[in-house]
Amino acid sequence: MKLEQALSRYFGYSTFREGQKEIISTLLEGENVLAMLPTGTGKSICYQLPALLANGVTIVVSPLLSLMEDQVQQLRSEGIKAVVAINSFMNPEDRDTILHSLHLYKMIYISPEMLQSSFIQNRLKRLHISYFVVDEAHCISQWGHDFRPDYLRLGSVKKALGDPTCLAITATATKTVQKDICDRLMLINPHRFIYSVDRPQISYYMEKCLTTNEKVNRVKDLAKSLEGPGMIYFSSRMWAENICHLLKREGIARVAYYHGGLTNEDRLLIQQQFMTGQIDLICCTSAFGMGINKKDIRYVIHFHYPVDLESYVQEVGRAAGMVFLVVQFCFIVMKIKDWRECCLKETN
Ligand code: ADP
Repeated sequence: MKLEQALSRYFGYSTFREGQKEIISTLLEGENVLAMLPTGTGKSICYQLPALLANGVTIVVSPLLSLMEDQVQQLRSEGIKAVVAINSFMNPEDRDTILHSLHLYKMIYISPEMLQSSFIQNRLKRLHISYFVVDEAHCISQWGHDFRPDYLRLGSVKKALGDPTCLAITATATKTVQKDICDRLMLINPHRFIYSVDRPQISYYMEKCLTTNEKVNRVKDLAKSLEGPGMIYFSSRMWAENICHLLKREGIARVAYYHGGLTNEDRLLIQQQFMTGQIDLICCTSAFGMGINKKDIRYVIHFHYPVDLESYVQEVGRAAGMVFLVVQFCFIVMKIKDWRECCLKETN
């Protein structure tokens, strides 16, 4: 079967997007791949199609429960049922049933932490594993050295599972991060498919303000005049909450705040309301984002600088229209063009 036929059969698309076919063909030849494709271009199909065409099972390491569940749900809704996400919130009986029938699945989504369990590793070792995929692979570098050390152990897990063909895929990785990913996953000279993260349909603006007050007013004006859905990123929970309250007082009704200090239930509720269009504007910290697959986010505003270049690219990657970076001090003379060029240079 030709690859296009397989694409059409499983996903209903007639042509591949840039990069997909090259990545898929290389994986099908059993070669390791490091890939970088911009957000929204269809990274998932790069491993889902090979997974469906392979004889064995594909392990997909994913950083977030919501991300895994979204993918599993989406695949099931497309009629692809042999997929499962193993997570720590499952009730023990369900998990036991799944772990004893892993051979029935084509794709198993799992977190790096769950993969450390020797029981799970032993169950996986009994299977023929076709591919070991690390989705959002920049997390190896971004989180592995910090609060999710199990990311750094993925290379050993991959080895213990018989060193299957590996795909590390992300939307954002500087050269240093790319090297870190390869080192940690023990990938020696993988095929590299690195595409520009530039998305020409997005307009970038940098707004310069002299004082905090001016900045708050500018963001208020933007939020009132731009058509949503939109997002405003802050570096602190307090700012996210305060500006949300302020915007409410200014008459923007369908606005909410989101940060890591909310309960799981609240976070889930707000996320769902945003996804389903009941909320138009979200004031959030970096806790909101990964796994949000909303195609109609019209604008993203940064009230504060993002923590690093990867976060910036990830966060603006969610926009389908306009991106604003509102900076406070006039002595920051970097023009938006330079900032963009610097991003592209670093990530390419
Ligand atoms: P990413 O992970 O890169 O952000 P996704 O894998 O979620 O992107 O894909 C984004 C959207 O593009 C999905 O709705 C997906 O079905 C669609 N898509 C992927 N590949 C193709 C293709 N070849 N033709 C048309 N649509 C595609």
